[in-house]
Amino acid sequence: MLPEQGGPVELKALVQNQNRCTACGACAALCPYIYAVREKVAVIYPCGLAEGNCYRVCPRTPTDLGELDRRVFGAPRTDHVLGEHSAIYFSRARDSEIGARAQYGGTVTALLAFLLQQGRIDAALAVRGNGAALPEPAVAATAEDLLACAGSKYSACPSLSALPQAVREGRRRLAVVGRPCQVTALRKMQGLAQEQQFSRLPAAKLDLFVIGLFCFWALTPGFYGFLAEKAGPEEIWKVDIPVEGLKITFTSGKELLVPVDEARPFIRPACPECFDPTAELADVSVGSTEYDPAWNTLVVRTAAGRALVEEARAAGVIELRPYPEERLPILRRAAFNKKLRVLNTQTGDGYLRLSGEYREQLLRQGGNNG
Ligand SMILES: Cc1cc2nc3c(=O)[nH]c(=O)nc-3n(C[C@H](O)[C@H](O)[C@H](O)COP(=O)(O)OP(=O)(O)OC[C@H]3O[C@@H](n4cnc5c(N)ncnc54)[C@H](O)[C@@H]3O)c2cc1C
Ligand code: SF4
Ligand code: SF4
Repeated sequence: MLPEQGGPVELKALVQNQNRCTACGACAALCPYIYAVREKVAVIYPCGLAEGNCYRVCPRTPTDLGELDRRVFGAPRTDHVLGEHSAIYFSRARDSEIGARAQYGGTVTALLAFLLQQGRIDAALAVRGNGAALPEPAVAATAEDLLACAGSKYSACPSLSALPQAVREGRRRLAVVGRPCQVTALRKMQGLAQEQQFSRLPAAKLDLFVIGLFCFWALTPGFYGFLAEKAGPEEIWKVDIPVEGLKITFTSGKELLVPVDEARPFIRPACPECFDPTAELADVSVGSTEYDPAWNTLVVRTAAGRALVEEARAAGVIELRPYPEERLPILRRAAFNKKLRVLNTQTGDGYLRLSGEYREQLLRQGGNNG
């Protein structure tokens, strides 16, 4: 059984050494004795604390999802399959340059650029990288920086480890783009920062807006070697994983479609344990449509998320369409099936802390598919 409290010794023994680390980077943001190198995060020297913030912010140590909902939304969730939300849309950026550089509709980059241009954030924490090179965290403070970060990198870049860089640079108002595990870690960190007087946690010093990405799995760094092999002399422009398989587009315009099963051996071992495919604790969450690559699925969750989406639409920065009614059961089924797989395989030492009521509601709503 995972202990409710612990320090770096437990984090190392029960998460990092058990292949449960998602490489969110949160613990490395808190402690100079925890390093993130090539998407491996490791305690290199245990400081001796029996109870540490590193253990408490980790998304793979005991995590009470009901409590996190109450903290972020002020109430228990009403939707147990997709998480609390006020609206779901198809969305896309109106700026054609963003559209051309982005993974799909460019909603994430467009919202970040809008926040920056309006002077509402000092920077965005994103991920930079290209082709077969290992991506890296980036504190993006200009529109050009944001464009350089556009596009999905299908591995677990520990970008939260760059939070201290943002604090050092005085970027107090920060938008963070993160995978669902990273959003959970951030919300845990914010909760701790509120609890602790004179907290030294980065979250205590930052005003955060959180954009979550849909994520059903990420790949290990070995994936980039695989990509380089597939590319040969060609230069990679974009990688995507639509339903047809793994699609590699080269700068020459050529495309290569590889069966997705060839990428599966690179799935990060922590990902099959992940219970949150749509970043349920974010202000807004963005994914593909699995239908039209020029658009995104946009889930509006918090009041801050709602306000931003409305303003970005009114300013002509993003375009919204009603989410097609017939697609909703497909999205709900995918999210529910992922949760069910985790519930069915979780052993006694799992990290999820769910009340009986929470489980019951999930099974009922997921079973009804709506
Ligand atoms: C590992 C991974 C798995 C995903 N799996 C799914 C899925 O199964 N289904 C689905 O619908 N969508 C998935 N997505 C989300 C999808 O690929 C797009 O990121 C999302 O739809 C936003 O599209 P966009 O056009 O707005 O992106 P853009 O405007 O191009 O912006 C993408 C943003 O994501 C940031 N980013 C890129 N890679 C990472 C990373 N590894 N970690 C953190 N931030 C990153 C970039 O820096 C950029 O700010 C996944 C994304 C990632 C990173
Ligand atoms: S999941 Fe995140 S917080 Fe937990 S050990 Fe890994 S990097 Fe650290
Ligand atoms: S599947 Fe879950 S654990 Fe893995 S990278 Fe995505 S959000 Fe993190």
